[in-house]
Amino acid sequence: MYSICTLGSHCALQVLKGAKDENFRTLLICEEKRINLYSRFRFIDRLVPVKDYRYENVCSEHVMNDLRDYNCILIPHGTMISNMQVEEIESMRVPFFGNRYILRWEADRVLKERLTIESGIRVPRSLNMDDLDGKSLAIAKLHGAAGGKGYFLVSSKEQFIRYYNNLLRRGTIKGMEDIYLQEYIVGVPVYLQFFYSPLSREVELLGIDRRYESDVDAIGRIPAMQQSYTNIDDITYTVVGNIPLVLRESLLDEAYRMGERFVDAVRRLIKHEMIGPFCLEGVYDRDANFIAFEFSARIVAGTNLYVNGSPYSYLLYDEPMSTGRRIAREIRLAIDSNELGKVLT
Ligand code: AMP
Repeated sequence: MYSICTLGSHCALQVLKGAKDENFRTLLICEEKRINLYSRFRFIDRLVPVKDYRYENVCSEHVMNDLRDYNCILIPHGTMISNMQVEEIESMRVPFFGNRYILRWEADRVLKERLTIESGIRVPRSLNMDDLDGKSLAIAKLHGAAGGKGYFLVSSKEQFIRYYNNLLRRGTIKGMEDIYLQEYIVGVPVYLQFFYSPLSREVELLGIDRRYESDVDAIGRIPAMQQSYTNIDDITYTVVGNIPLVLRESLLDEAYRMGERFVDAVRRLIKHEMIGPFCLEGVYDRDANFIAFEFSARIVAGTNLYVNGSPYSYLLYDEPMSTGRRIAREIRLAIDSNELGKVLT
């Protein structure tokens, strides 16, 4: 008998509820300070306490023994990605649902852009300081910044240098190599939540959301005249929550095609094919073209909106189908058809 296991954060509740709905045993690796929260949920069969989610704790002998005893399949999510190095995740000795080799591509901006372009999806132009001519807007991103913290918008070289020197002085960056400058795309943010099944070889669109980000979603509530009186100088994109969204139906065909081209591109560029959930993250501009500034090659937290299914999952399944449950369903189908090797790496 297999168990499904994940780290206690991000989308753990959705994943383990989905696993229980598919009749799996469930196990949660849980930071001590979160045990109070997670012990409230009866669909979690076992909590394995750890000090925090660093590799040395998650992969300690007592945790690994538990995972082996319970025959666990690990479901990766954003908290795991942000707490561990790619090399550490690649070396973990536990069956992993998904393609663990793609995480390297998700973590590296250059590789990420290559895979997105290979998918035939538009990306914002990369810029350097000399491209800042005062006529259009650029977004400066800090490498490894969590949730867009410290990003800033500039249009001229002078503005850029002012921000840059401030960040240097504060020790936030060490030099130009810590900043990634990109064309700012004016449009509305949209996150397309897909699932690829290596068993049926089909892409499913399971949901769509947008993020609710502070300060950027706060600044629009203040009239332009008063905006300069706020102390907001470097606008942040700290994710506070997610808001459900449906697309104009005429945009759905291209959304599905983008998901399919992404899966094809992964097959061409990476040694293992796409498995399970992924998300294309970008904006639709005034001509309703999608320009992607990110992808996530695993479950995203925006899927938590749809614990009970989304409008899109309901069109595919006559039962509540969250992304977490869809993962468990795929594992169940793979076990039944003796093809577990297709969904684990
Ligand atoms: P990221 O860290 O790339 O996910 O970006 C954080 C947030 O910054 C996103 O949710 C977007 O709202 C915004 N953003 C990132 N890149 C761009 C871009 N090139 N144009 C417009 N907005 C962007």
